[in-house]
Amino acid sequence: MLSDRDEEGEYTKERERMVRSQIAARGIRCERVLAAMRAVPRHVFVPGHLLGSAYRDSPLPIGHGQTISQPYIVAYMTQMLELEGTDRVLEIGTGSGYQAAILSQLAAQVISVERFPSLAKEASQVLESLGCQNVRVEVGDGSLGWPAEAPYDAIIVTAAAPHIPQPLQEQLAEGGRLVAPVGPRWTQELIRIRRTGDQYHSDSLMGVAFVPLIGEHGWQDRGSVRRWE
Ligand code: SAM
Repeated sequence: MLSDRDEEGEYTKERERMVRSQIAARGIRCERVLAAMRAVPRHVFVPGHLLGSAYRDSPLPIGHGQTISQPYIVAYMTQMLELEGTDRVLEIGTGSGYQAAILSQLAAQVISVERFPSLAKEASQVLESLGCQNVRVEVGDGSLGWPAEAPYDAIIVTAAAPHIPQPLQEQLAEGGRLVAPVGPRWTQELIRIRRTGDQYHSDSLMGVAFVPLIGEHGWQDRGSVRRWE
């Protein structure tokens, strides 16, 4: 059996392979993003029975019908936020906490909102165990944003809504960037919005398939959760 140290060494190698073959090979060039993807151990964010799949090129189930996103999508969305070390970031959809950990490496402060209290609690614990002191996880309907701490230099939404929630646009700082999957329930476009004064410039980036954003400015909960398990 491998000792803990050997296991960590194996995970480090797997992570390096992940960064090279799944992320850099697909055109992610930002060195800061690549460094964050190398640094954050994805395996501590996946359920124990999926440890062997932690560095696979796919999303994985984390319970409640939710997923930890594919590593490439995490890296791509992060790169599109164009983060600077002084930025304050809002994430909607904490899930496992993995994306929040990546953001924590690249920004000054991260606030992450999750609707399932148990996911929020588990993610908080993992983030704390990794020493991510600049991340705060909150429980609530993230389709409303987190107005108490607005505005944000960057907002990332990791669940899909039929349209960009208006409160999120309003909570973007001048020059702020928002990246979110938008569109029908099962497949969407990844959209980036950049705020300049009162203008919001929107780009369509790529096709994606995210779990639904359930909330006042997202989809209604129609008991759809089971479909994602
Ligand atoms: N970023 C996550 C990670 O790194 O593991 C993956 C997020 S998962 C694809 C989407 C998450 O959004 C789920 O945990 C889901 O419960 C959450 N979610 C859906 N609607 C939400 C809402 N209105 N407010 C907050 N979280 C929401």
